[in-house]
Amino acid sequence: MGTLPQRLLLGPGPSNVNPRVLAALSQPLVGHLDPAFLAVMDEVQAGLRELFGTRNALTLPLSATGSAGMEACLANLLERGDEVVVGVAGVFGERMCDVATRMGARVTRVETEPGTPLPEDGMLEAIERVRPRVVAFVHAETSTGVLQPVEAIAACARKAGSLVVLDCVTSLAGLPVELDRWGIDAAYSGTQKCLSAPPGLSPVSFSERALTRVRERATPVQSWYLDISLLAGYFGQERVYHHTAPISAILGLAEALRVVLEEGLPARIARHAAAARQLREELAPLGFTPLVADGYRLPMLTTLRLPEAVLAMGEAPLRRRLLDRHGIEVGGGLGKLAGQIWRVGLMGENARRSSVETLRDALARELA
Ligand SMILES: *Cc1c(COP(=O)(O)O)cnc(C)c1O
Repeated sequence: MGTLPQRLLLGPGPSNVNPRVLAALSQPLVGHLDPAFLAVMDEVQAGLRELFGTRNALTLPLSATGSAGMEACLANLLERGDEVVVGVAGVFGERMCDVATRMGARVTRVETEPGTPLPEDGMLEAIERVRPRVVAFVHAETSTGVLQPVEAIAACARKAGSLVVLDCVTSLAGLPVELDRWGIDAAYSGTQKCLSAPPGLSPVSFSERALTRVRERATPVQSWYLDISLLAGYFGQERVYHHTAPISAILGLAEALRVVLEEGLPARIARHAAAARQLREELAPLGFTPLVADGYRLPMLTTLRLPEAVLAMGEAPLRRRLLDRHGIEVGGGLGKLAGQIWRVGLMGENARRSSVETLRDALARELA
């Protein structure tokens, strides 16, 4: 077996995985229609409903990464020529526009400066003017570290008769997510962020309203693999073959969900908030300051403006030294923020004081 170095993963994902999850991944294989495996699948789907705050029957781990969850939500709800309003607060809102455009939808973008949330009045105005089929935006924008308030936009969209798609890739299991209370019709996440499982699966959830829309489509969903009506054959009551479920990955996710639910969501959410506070406090004396205004900061992903000393030595070489000498990964800026900020993730297993202290000590040594 090849060996990889031990890393402390404090970037935008993946996060480190609990040893219980690594053990679960190495269990012997069973068939994906084996009753023993289907029982695990039932448990996974129930656990995901709890995390998403939903009773949606069609809540399942899609066999692909978070970006495929995005494609699945948009591909099932949109047809060629449909109007969609997309909130663009960073790279992942931009990706939603790209995906919807490739599907032949007519995209209205509502943008904001990196590091700020979407303008609520701008979103509401666009929704009321366009009355789109779908309104799509990102709950936790991992490229900028901004938390997007959901409720007002979702309420306005529902009043306009639009379906609401929410990106919960980074928020799930680290922030409250309440799909049913907020009136979200389709949501997707990823396993490698606050769930602390390996990348490769995308938890998704579709409301009854969304499924009604899918049934009323004039044209078939363009993607066979992501067509939710076909996926429902395996992930619903019938449990018939659609594609071979990635068994080991699901066993890992099942254990990760047990770890989350044993801790309890409220405790886990509080732990993420506390770790983010500690990070800001510990790095402030070194000259790192938050990019995002108080009230809109993500707990699991902090974007920090860099001190002069870091800019002078080059931020990328310093990140490389953190990796090579200390085994710590942090993320650089994306797009317009490249070279200006760092993205420090304290996700899932890593949302702890010890991660913050390890990073602080390594930085203090490198900057001395
Ligand atoms: C990571 C991420 C994605 C993409 O997920 P992949 O697993 O990398 O495909 C989408 N949206 C947000 C907000 C993310 O942080």
